Amino acid sequence: MTPGSPGQRPVVVVGAGPVGLSAALALRSHGLPVVLLEADPEGRRRPGSRALFVHRETLRLLDGMRPGLAAEITAYGRTWHTRRTLYRGREVYARTFPPPSGTPPFTSLRQVDTERFLLAACEDAGVEFVWGAAVTGVHVGPEEAVLTAADGRTWAAPHVVAADGARSAVRAALGIRMEGTHGEGFHVVVDVADLPGAEAPLERVFHYEHPGVGGRSVMRVPFTGGFQVDLQCRDDDAQEEYGTEEAVRRWLPAVVGEGYGERILWVSTYRFLRKVAASFTDPHRRVLLVGEAAHLFPPFGARGMNSGIADAAAAARAIAAGTAEAVDEFAEVRRAAGLFNSAAAGTALDHLRPRRRIVRVKQRAAAALAPVLPWCGSWLEHAPYGPRHGAPAVAGGKY
Ligand SMILES: Cc1cc2nc3c(=O)[nH]c(=O)nc-3n(C[C@H](O)[C@H](O)[C@H](O)COP(=O)(O)OP(=O)(O)OC[C@H]3O[C@@H](n4cnc5c(N)ncnc54)[C@H](O)[C@@H]3O)c2cc1C
Repeated sequence: MTPGSPGQRPVVVVGAGPVGLSAALALRSHGLPVVLLEADPEGRRRPGSRALFVHRETLRLLDGMRPGLAAEITAYGRTWHTRRTLYRGREVYARTFPPPSGTPPFTSLRQVDTERFLLAACEDAGVEFVWGAAVTGVHVGPEEAVLTAADGRTWAAPHVVAADGARSAVRAALGIRMEGTHGEGFHVVVDVADLPGAEAPLERVFHYEHPGVGGRSVMRVPFTGGFQVDLQCRDDDAQEEYGTEEAVRRWLPAVVGEGYGERILWVSTYRFLRKVAASFTDPHRRVLLVGEAAHLFPPFGARGMNSGIADAAAAARAIAAGTAEAVDEFAEVRRAAGLFNSAAAGTALDHLRPRRRIVRVKQRAAAALAPVLPWCGSWLEHAPYGPRHGAPAVAGGKY
């Protein structure tokens, strides 16, 4: 039996990704009973590091949902104190920050590990899981939403949180459009395990126009047990040349040194979508869209999972308030945050994948001047992640 007040009907969450798990946990923290429907079977294996970077604001939100969760996650994750930027093989920025007291500014761990912590917290909080339940149909009325799974099972709920990812079946069934753009080209994401006894330095490095990979830009980010390498390909690069495991074995030594060829854990390519749902709720205010069901951003700036968890917290708060006005406010505020994040990601992309010659010229000039004008190095260090007014996770409103 799902916990809650006697007779209270559970809220249904669709999707057990990081955002759906956070939504379920947040709903439980408001004392609401929750059923979580997930298409995959129990014990599934999720791929790769994906969203590594968990912001301080996200840690605070998670701790509000489950006191002690932030400490558990940060005890496992890694926080680097050194940030380094190079331009064509030459260092233009390096800064080491003193270790923080209290909650660190962020922690870095593979998304599979974040999900592992969230799943355990949900189980402990009494979320009821239904694995192998692929939602295919949604019918919404003034009082409730009814979900149908591929095998014909149905669930009726006063509110549904749709956290079923980029190809959201719930969003499609409601006929809500995604609005925005997609850029040309792709980048390659590679997870590499540390060499035994030779841990990679605990620093985040961005290298503009790396000479070892034909002038493509590369980032290296540590996580517990290894590091992620991110290669920005050119628009006309072929996937087979850069984005397969065999191809990665060819170019990786030029970027991280020898010995890592057999330590590749995962290779994936990623395209640049910037899309936000036309609405984050339905006309009856019974279904609330969160996470990638509601918005897609390129990964630089770590806006995807972080802002999804902020959506989840806001959705739970609106459902707990129990009024259509609260759901409306959720939808407006989180959509505004989505649009802010989309624009910020666009600014980052203009810098990261310059289309205009003037941007490259500015970068080259800043790199040349960095030794005498440190702010030029600082600009090169910060620009790939885009503007950050307040926290990208919560940008756009009080949530
Ligand atoms: C290849 C790849 C690389 C990435 N790299 C990065 C990165 O480097 N940095 C970064 O910040 N972000 C990255 N991301 C994005 C990040 O992974 C997402 O922001 C994050 O997973 C979004 O979480 P979510 O819970 O909204 O959706 P998801 O993680 O997609 O979870 C959705 C869940 O819903 C389930 N589901 C789907 N359809 C149904 C259905 N019909 N019924 C029931 N359940 C359903 C799915 O099985 C899944 O469990 C990457 C994503 C991918 C795919």
